[in-house]
Amino acid sequence: MSDIEAFRCETRAWLEANCPESMRTPMPENEMVWGGSQVEFVSQDQRLWFERMRDRGWFCPDWPIEYGGSGLNAEEAAVLEAEMRRLRCRPPQINLGIWMLGPLLLEHGSEEQKRRLLPPMARGEVRWCQGFSEPNAGSDLASLRTRARLESDHFVVDGTKIWTSYGDKSDWMYALVRTDPDAPKHQGISLLLIDMHAEGVSTAPIDLIGGKSSFCQVFFDGVRVARENLVGELNAGWALAKRLLQHERRAMSKFGEISLPTHFDLLSLLREYLPEPQGRAEQALHLRAIRCRMEEHAFELTQRRMAEEMRAGQDGSDLMAIMKLVHSEQEKEKFEVLLDVLGLRALGWEESSFTDQELALTRAWLGSFAQTIAGGSSEVQLNVIAKRVLGLPEAGKGEAK
Ligand SMILES: Cc1cc2nc3c(=O)[nH]c(=O)nc-3n(C[C@H](O)[C@H](O)[C@H](O)COP(=O)(O)OP(=O)(O)OC[C@H]3O[C@@H](n4cnc5c(N)ncnc54)[C@H](O)[C@@H]3O)c2cc1C
Repeated sequence: MSDIEAFRCETRAWLEANCPESMRTPMPENEMVWGGSQVEFVSQDQRLWFERMRDRGWFCPDWPIEYGGSGLNAEEAAVLEAEMRRLRCRPPQINLGIWMLGPLLLEHGSEEQKRRLLPPMARGEVRWCQGFSEPNAGSDLASLRTRARLESDHFVVDGTKIWTSYGDKSDWMYALVRTDPDAPKHQGISLLLIDMHAEGVSTAPIDLIGGKSSFCQVFFDGVRVARENLVGELNAGWALAKRLLQHERRAMSKFGEISLPTHFDLLSLLREYLPEPQGRAEQALHLRAIRCRMEEHAFELTQRRMAEEMRAGQDGSDLMAIMKLVHSEQEKEKFEVLLDVLGLRALGWEESSFTDQELALTRAWLGSFAQTIAGGSSEVQLNVIAKRVLGLPEAGKGEAK
């Protein structure tokens, strides 16, 4: 038996023995485990699964051992991913740090930063949030105004960030700040790591149409940040931000695969609510649903092919804008179809005559719009694809998130 086959057998056996049955089911949004100092579990199985994966270093299986990973090579990491998918294992924890900042630090952090920040991140002890957008800097991110003044060994930060997902529950933020207000706007930006418990940081929740607030506005009032928390060079944060956004889009394009944040199976709902289509309109709806599922399947296959190509050394970073765009637009279309299939049953809010699944679907439909904006809107993804993937000439000026 080859080494990789032996690894597959060992991994399969370990997962069979260690992933509790209840952690092999689709994960509703309220059962997502977010790592961090305030980690919460709704069941003993969740805790066990979290702790077992953490102790094996499998929150970040392909990170080097000295930074908290388990040092798997690309082939082994792919086997682990495939075996988890085969068993339908839930992700043991969700953590923006691991998805976005961690990979960036591995590439651009100093040795001291990697040793200080990565191991606690890889153990799920620190929850990170992203401080990029501001009230007047979303798509046009380089217009951000939050100031950080360098005073000997620390920065003093003043300003505000908006749409910060889970800002009120996070321990640390990776933030873009303006460190040179006189430089051209892309050149005066730095990437700074800010302790959300520091004096002068405050948060205010923002309510969403979906009925739940995951957003915050975050305010900085004379917040002191040690210089060691500057990532990369001073005023050279824009290139890092663009790289981090590639990691974000990559993670977002995988939402479907790891059952985040909505897990509604189109075809089984179709069978449940419209088992025998009557008349032309219902038959047309059936066809639309099937086309939608086929496109979803084609996306999943493309995603796997791309993962293989990247493991073989191809750089697919710029293609992540395509994957994010397609996936978020597909999800939105899926919920539009489901809305037509369920009719009024998909418009429940708090009435007792709706099932839990129907109520969850209404919220997920509303949430699907947000995914086409988060991480850069669909229009902005089209601009990125035109510029960086297709190499088309620029029609207008301005960099966009
Ligand atoms: C669910 C969710 C989670 C988020 N989480 C975070 C987070 O954790 N941290 C964070 O920093 N931000 C977060 N955001 C904010 C997100 O990054 C911004 O909303 C996004 O970049 C768009 O910026 P904006 O809202 O200011 O819209 P605007 O930039 O004002 O855009 C408004 C409209 O104009 C269009 N538009 C703008 N510029 C162009 C252009 N050049 N060409 C064509 N069309 C254009 C946009 O597509 C959009 O339709 C989140 C957003 C969502 C929805």
